[in-house]
Amino acid sequence: MGIKVLKFGGSSVADALQLQKVKKIVETDPERRFIVVSAPGKRFSDDSKITDLLYLCKTHIDNNLTAAHVFQVICDRYKMMEMNLGVDVNIDKELEIIRENLKPGVTSDYIASRGEYLCGKLAAAVLGFDFVDPAGLICFDERGRYLPDQTDSRLSAELKKHENAVIPGFYGSDMDGNIKTFSRGGSDITGSLVAKAVGADIYENWTDVSGFLMADPRIVPEAKPIKNITYKELRELSYMGASVLHEDAVFPAREANIPINIRNTNDPDDPGTIISDAPHENDSIITGIAGRRDFAVITLYKNMMNAEVGFVKRLLTILENNDVAFEHLPTGIDTVCVVVSQKQLEGKLQDLLDDIERRLSPDTIEVYHDMALIATVGTGMTRRPGVCAALFGALNDAGVNVRMIDQGSSEMNIIIGVENDSFETAISAIYKAFVK
Ligand code: ASP
Repeated sequence: MGIKVLKFGGSSVADALQLQKVKKIVETDPERRFIVVSAPGKRFSDDSKITDLLYLCKTHIDNNLTAAHVFQVICDRYKMMEMNLGVDVNIDKELEIIRENLKPGVTSDYIASRGEYLCGKLAAAVLGFDFVDPAGLICFDERGRYLPDQTDSRLSAELKKHENAVIPGFYGSDMDGNIKTFSRGGSDITGSLVAKAVGADIYENWTDVSGFLMADPRIVPEAKPIKNITYKELRELSYMGASVLHEDAVFPAREANIPINIRNTNDPDDPGTIISDAPHENDSIITGIAGRRDFAVITLYKNMMNAEVGFVKRLLTILENNDVAFEHLPTGIDTVCVVVSQKQLEGKLQDLLDDIERRLSPDTIEVYHDMALIATVGTGMTRRPGVCAALFGALNDAGVNVRMIDQGSSEMNIIIGVENDSFETAISAIYKAFVK
């Protein structure tokens, strides 16, 4: 029998009703043996996530204010969950212990982690699974840096002892037992670590969407789901803003060759999206389209630039000295463009341009603002003739002016730069060109 590791995100464990859905999903398949949970998220759009409320408690304490009323909201939610689920995990006592720790000196990692801890207790009781606390198993150093080797050996040794278990996501501890958390959304990472530690056949990441769509549905309402995506494609699309999964969650599963399946707790029959390194066939040549607005492009032109040794190196040093990170660097024979997010340039642009002028003496420098970048991604595009023609033909038909083109040699990703105002038109046009 295989082993499946499931991680349920905040909206999947937001209340008793959601946890009942989790129970049903887990019970339909005996291979679903290890369950990682987030803290309860929003039940409706104006609701608060438990983790946000916990961080708010810490802010109150740091400002010498009482956190009592915020903590009461948290207590009420967990007590209601315990009651509605009909389980007894002694939640009053657990909450009392946390309340006693809410005093100056408490770390935000400890406070934030309690959301997952309590949710794990409830989920374990509902499922009748063992509760395994990741403190002491998921290891960090004293500065909060995650330690992969210690974690893998401790976690796999512990989980071998359990037939079924619930493990709270998001946190672990340092070698002195102090609680440490990953960055926000880090329960995804815990799921991946558990999958690796138990040698899972698949890591199912259950959320409130049925995987990835080929484009943002606010722009392309008919956007189809992506059935299969490689890690590389995922990286390209997430970089452009299409995110469902914490970026660091990919590595442990990928290292151990475990596919990740994004699934929807509210629609468990939908197969969702499978992320793996396996070559795949989707119905369309492209896998997905994603983009981001608000970039600036600084274009330098200098006659005979290509013969000037170290030109780009000096340009990059100037960017570094001005603390500006760049996103893309398309080059021509005598031109080089630096694509930078506009936010990066706030308050720095003039100094940067002065430095470039002084140290590189370009013939011209031009700065275009308000550019959007759009990535059309798909390993299926490789070696297919006509992809560029279809893409640029569609943009031309839609009246979109393409200001920049950047295609990596892998041919897996074609990035174009268009005016912010043409962002949505361009995405719709590309989608229609490739998805029938
Ligand atoms: N509860 C944490 C957060 O809201 C971690 C997680 O849900 O993955 O960021």
